[in-house]
Amino acid sequence: RQNERESLLIVLNFAKTFFQETLLKSDEGRGIGLSYFRERGFSNPTIEAFDLGYSFDQWDALMQEGTRKGYSRELLEKAGLIISKEAGKVFDRFRGRVMFPIHNVSGRVIAFGARILKTDKNQPKYLNSPETTVYHKSQVLYGIYQAKQTIRQEDICYLTEGYTDVISLHQAGIKNVVASSGTSLTTEQIRLIARFTPNVTILYDGDAAGIKAALRGLDMVLEEGLNLKLLLLPDGEDPDSYVHKVGAEAFKTYVKQHSQDFIDFKAGQWLAEAGDNPLKRAEGISDVCASITKIPDPLKRQTLSQRVAQVFHVNEQSVISEINRLLRKQQ
Ligand code: ATP
Ligand code: MN
Ligand code: MN
Ligand code: MN
Repeated sequence: RQNERESLLIVLNFAKTFFQETLLKSDEGRGIGLSYFRERGFSNPTIEAFDLGYSFDQWDALMQEGTRKGYSRELLEKAGLIISKEAGKVFDRFRGRVMFPIHNVSGRVIAFGARILKTDKNQPKYLNSPETTVYHKSQVLYGIYQAKQTIRQEDICYLTEGYTDVISLHQAGIKNVVASSGTSLTTEQIRLIARFTPNVTILYDGDAAGIKAALRGLDMVLEEGLNLKLLLLPDGEDPDSYVHKVGAEAFKTYVKQHSQDFIDFKAGQWLAEAGDNPLKRAEGISDVCASITKIPDPLKRQTLSQRVAQVFHVNEQSVISEINRLLRKQQ
């Protein structure tokens, strides 16, 4: 077992280096991959910090080089790098894509995300490694290796949706950033953050999907006892697009001014929808109270009922009884 893990990590590291060399040294890599990263505004140090690469638009470039280096097909396949079809047909999983290696906390490459360069309705925008012995996507946060030291120093972690959000914020000097990368947030991912800080700010895309994902992630973060803030980006922006649009300093100011605690975030969503409708408002209060019941610390729960009362303009006692009613229901 231990042996297989180590073999997989070695072959994944070989693939990482091959994709990097393809990006930086081949005509195709420089002409297509590197130009793509340039268009996205990624600098050389950034490309290096994240070990970015490019995969040749060929059927088996990686497999041939891997075989030449002595890695067996079986190992390449177990690492998720090649796919074998019936009748012995074998080909590279990642072809003609820019490559985003996914590192574990200690910096070893355990998987890849890969993006097509041009939009093509017949192909997924991002393709990821499958689950393997070393890659369990529900346990991994993209960027944790590059972010962990700054997360500790700043005592806060920004949680985004995607690879390019992590990379662009890092380049802008905001290095305490990770991404859940397309999976909905898991408890294991939250516990990974909790190893470095109890403070999390969710920075999801400013669209309906992002808001929905933030609302889903919210209760899980509270359940783990972490302190949570959320930030709504302007409609249609994600952290990557927005930091490029306004620059690093304005982005930091925006984060300072617009981060909300979960009560304000949820109440904002509900009040926008409810207007004067008293039933909707009551539903909103109950929904915010439901999130409060997720917080393990009773003292923290108590101090929050007052905030809910203020935000919804109701008396605190009714909020407290709603929280208690929900707590009893959960037992
Ligand atoms: P880009 O800026 O390159 O278009 P993005 O990160 O803004 O990418 P989103 O569409 O916002 O892309 O998706 C967020 C994240 O979800 C991606 O970074 C990726 O990790 C994951 N993702 C998106 N599309 C897919 C897909 N088709 N298959 C698997 N994962 C995906
Ligand atoms: Mn999105
Ligand atoms: Mn984006
Ligand atoms: Mn996005």
